Amino acid sequence: MDSKIRLLAEQLPPLSDREALVEANRCLYCYDAPCTHACPTHIDIPRFIKKISTANVVGSARTILESNLIGATCARVCPVEELCEGACVLNSEQKPIRIGRLQRYAMDHVHDRRIDIFHAAPATRRRVAVIGAGPAGLSCAGELARRGHAVTVFEKRDLGGGLSTYGIIVLREPVPVALAEVHMIARLGVKFVNGVEVSEPLTGYDAVFVATGLGGTPSLGIPGEERILDGLAFIELSKMKPAELRIGENVAVIGAGNTAIDCATVARRSGASRVTMVYRRTEREMSAYPHEYEFVKKEGVEFEFRARPVAVHPGGLECARDSSTFMIPAQTVVKAIGQQRPPIASALGLETDRGFIKVTPSLETSVPGIYAGGDCIRAKGAASTVMAAQDGKIAAHAIHVALAVLPPGP
Ligand SMILES: Cc1cc2nc3c(=O)[nH]c(=O)nc-3n(C[C@H](O)[C@H](O)[C@H](O)COP(=O)(O)OP(=O)(O)OC[C@H]3O[C@@H](n4cnc5c(N)ncnc54)[C@H](O)[C@@H]3O)c2cc1C
Ligand code: SF4
Repeated sequence: MDSKIRLLAEQLPPLSDREALVEANRCLYCYDAPCTHACPTHIDIPRFIKKISTANVVGSARTILESNLIGATCARVCPVEELCEGACVLNSEQKPIRIGRLQRYAMDHVHDRRIDIFHAAPATRRRVAVIGAGPAGLSCAGELARRGHAVTVFEKRDLGGGLSTYGIIVLREPVPVALAEVHMIARLGVKFVNGVEVSEPLTGYDAVFVATGLGGTPSLGIPGEERILDGLAFIELSKMKPAELRIGENVAVIGAGNTAIDCATVARRSGASRVTMVYRRTEREMSAYPHEYEFVKKEGVEFEFRARPVAVHPGGLECARDSSTFMIPAQTVVKAIGQQRPPIASALGLETDRGFIKVTPSLETSVPGIYAGGDCIRAKGAASTVMAAQDGKIAAHAIHVALAVLPPGP
């Protein structure tokens, strides 16, 4: 297959009506279902699957969206092996129910037809600002709009969707899927102000939700670093302007997390004949999900463990292992070594924990009336889209409760 096509197409095809029906009918519809407990947004999974089995696809989408407004993205990007599908009782005897694929089937049905499941409640005249239009911001904005609050989302990029739009490779999530979620939230009456980077406290709002994600990729501080491509910018180019993606025969990717795996996948599928991932620790210490690691190995990506990059040269990446150095041939070097802490915290005077915004269980920050969620608060554990969506929901609920006790507005 042509390499550009392999890069631009979504990896898994949609389920046909028949396939969805057959899969839905395999479900045991467990009482107190373990899959629902394992989903961070607690979607009533047996219920949405049951509705697919009775051809009530719109009703199924409603069940999903009631718990998770970012259901179309989550259906594609959730590490289902670790979450809902990993908890399916059928795992012990046969294959688990393909919950993610069924969720995608129901969500695509309503997004493709622009069917609006929810509408805004009568206006409360309360005003809430959301900073950042990624999964956390969209989820919070949508939940607040459903309750009748006037929400304005400030987004520094031209398009909403955050990393779903700019950072998750097309193979897993095409851009229109992320944008369909933004449009659905906009149709709920949420106002989007794009191209505006908030850098100081906002005034005139009853509450603020900070959902800015993380910052850029940190520097490695090695000679020749200016030759290295930033991993997030590399993925963004592959999504937004794939024709402009120019890579050499040999590519080295520094890092071994999920972003590094994605960069290696893009490089392979863009035609690089040899892609080497370079990691300073051991295989066991990689932060990538095991299924992602297996996937990229099948893509033909090679690994250099316990290898520390020391310099970038025109034809390759010089690395050190123990006391000797060696060269990995590479015309293109990409770094994917994580993102920096959220830079907005100090601008808004918010307390932090190891650089992440500090919040209470209801996601309020150290400044009353300012809440935060998503990657910018995730000091511990792996950050994910579904957790960001759940944060948005929790914060929206807390804001709604707090607004209800405020004295009447003007
Ligand atoms: C390459 C990559 C692959 C990933 N793959 C997966 C995956 O397969 N599965 C999964 O579950 N998760 C994945 N993730 C993680 C997932 O994308 C994030 O956890 C999720 O997007 C976090 O949502 P968020 O809303 O907190 O932040 P983001 O998605 O980062 O959105 C933040 C938004 O805020 C905007 N913003 C920032 N600062 C300002 C400001 N000052 N003013 C206005 N706007 C601002 C940004 O432009 C952005 O649009 C991946 C991440 C990366 C980097
Ligand atoms: S949101 Fe993610 S974890 Fe939850 S049911 Fe859907 S695919 Fe599974």
